[in-house]
Amino acid sequence: MSDPKPVDTKTLLEWSARYHTPNYGRAPICLVRGDGVRVWDSDGREYLDFAAGIAVAALGHCHPTITGAIREAAATLLHVSNLYHTAPQIHLAKLLCEHSFADRVFFCNSGAEANEAALKLARKYAKERLASDRFEIIATRDSFHGRTLATVTATGQEKYQHGFEPLVPGFKHVPYNDLRAMERALDNRTAAIIVEPIQGEGGVHVPDADYLPGLRKLCDQSGALLILDEVQTGLGRTGKLWGYQHAGVEPDIMTLAKALANGVPMGAMLAREEVARALTPGTHASTFGGTPFVASVALATLTTILGEKIPERAARTGAYLMERLLALARQRPVVRAVRGRGLLIGLELSRPAGPIVDACRDAGLLVLTAGERVLRLAPPLIVDERDCDRALATIDAMLARSTS
Ligand SMILES: *Cc1c(COP(=O)(O)O)cnc(C)c1O
Repeated sequence: MSDPKPVDTKTLLEWSARYHTPNYGRAPICLVRGDGVRVWDSDGREYLDFAAGIAVAALGHCHPTITGAIREAAATLLHVSNLYHTAPQIHLAKLLCEHSFADRVFFCNSGAEANEAALKLARKYAKERLASDRFEIIATRDSFHGRTLATVTATGQEKYQHGFEPLVPGFKHVPYNDLRAMERALDNRTAAIIVEPIQGEGGVHVPDADYLPGLRKLCDQSGALLILDEVQTGLGRTGKLWGYQHAGVEPDIMTLAKALANGVPMGAMLAREEVARALTPGTHASTFGGTPFVASVALATLTTILGEKIPERAARTGAYLMERLLALARQRPVVRAVRGRGLLIGLELSRPAGPIVDACRDAGLLVLTAGERVLRLAPPLIVDERDCDRALATIDAMLARSTS
């Protein structure tokens, strides 16, 4: 094997501090192995993983079907570029279209890139089909759309933008879940609205039932496109395959990434026919987008999610977890609110969530923050009630300790 010589954890963390760009605030552990909803660190400690790589490992770690698909794809064909057709990419595009509103798919490598493609497509479509000065994008406050210049501009949080100015022109922000504000912001310069069906990173904010239908109506009236960023909510996370299905309306463009290939990097932008047609040959591309390797893994992921009714399972387990968390919240005043859908759940605390996340990790449970005061749970969608109970016990104990 080509593994470097084993190095003790302390040395690894020293080298990390020395050789990485300092942009991540990483936990002081080094993870080496995973199985289902569990991971192990370099000292052999076991963790129950309710973070799932930030809502990525929907089928858990090292799922046998996915590992099998990876082995087979790696031994068949890794990459040839998009100068040629490759069958896995075609099958994946077809399957995504058959199970969504979309007619066409563009593949890339991350959520930011998928959103970048969506924003570029919206501009091109609006300029060519509507009016040459129609290029503005309306996004929402507390949103998260990625870290490229255009997607960080769309992201409605100054902390991600600070220092990178000047940002991309042509973006406006309005409060989330506020149809009036969106209506006021829309005008004949608006190319598209971009929102998450549930705001993930911004604090697990679930909009009112009339929000997405209201946005759909505003877009229909004005001609602006509705872009749904389903990078976090897509592929069963919320208890339905797509977040928009809870609202009973369809977007014009949808973006995916995180769970799409269960941890192998992949993004996708899906659009309906008339909109997608604006991306004429040569107008957009990605060298790695949809390689036969990653497309095979995504195909295995999506086939398993559909075949094993994973969204329904996430809805059931999520309802159980939510009910137990609401009961917990009644006992622990430090929990101000419990929000979410399916297995994307946020506990809003009356204090910063970071120390609770650290305490949970020390006690063998990985969880996330979402904004400063929200503790976010996004376990693999295959998690069972027993592991939910274990996670609940740890969270409860850490909350109890933090209030005493
Ligand atoms: C994670 C996330 C992104 C960014 O995805 P990357 O793969 O990190 O670029 C964009 N939008 C949403 C809603 C996300 O949760």
